Amino acid sequence: MELLISEEKLLQRIKELAREIEEDFGRDFLVVSLLKGAFVFTADLIRSFNFPVQVDFMWVSSYGSSQESQGHIKVVKDLERDIDGLKVLLVDDILDTGYTLAEVYRLLQLKGAKEIKTCVLLDKRERRKVPFEADFIGFEVPNLFLVGYGLDWDEEGRNLRGIYAVH
Ligand code: 5GP
Ligand code: MG
Repeated sequence: MELLISEEKLLQRIKELAREIEEDFGRDFLVVSLLKGAFVFTADLIRSFNFPVQVDFMWVSSYGSSQESQGHIKVVKDLERDIDGLKVLLVDDILDTGYTLAEVYRLLQLKGAKEIKTCVLLDKRERRKVPFEADFIGFEVPNLFLVGYGLDWDEEGRNLRGIYAVH
């Protein structure tokens, strides 16, 4: 494993992201965080906001292969809150093919969200299979399998403090 992004760089960039989000999206939104991968990022992001914010979680999984989603999304755990009429900041760990966020975005629209912006820590742009771009992006990353800071490798490695590339 090779260190790609250190803990220090992550935390510094997340502080900047929080400012970008406040400038662009204001302070009045619900954070919807995708389990499990985004929980560490979400914890640091929300603590970088200098205003109160509510958080809810959704857990979706893709059918089939574990390392690549294939456009079929199953809701394992749905939101607890009613989001009808709310502004939502949708937060995920990594934007890869785009299937997950495109589908969750559509689900949040169906639930009546007034406005949705998306924030991802990592963006593997060259892997995109559906046209989906996030509004706020921490880092663009190369097409490597990444672990740490919430991202797992067969459920291991989520507690690593930096982001590592598995070779
Ligand atoms: P997408 O639907 O955009 O292909 O998939 C996004 C999801 O795939 C992420 O939330 C994450 O769970 C998983 N994923 C994509 N790339 C990686 C990676 O490099 N490492 C890990 N651990 N998960 C990844
Ligand atoms: Mg995920």
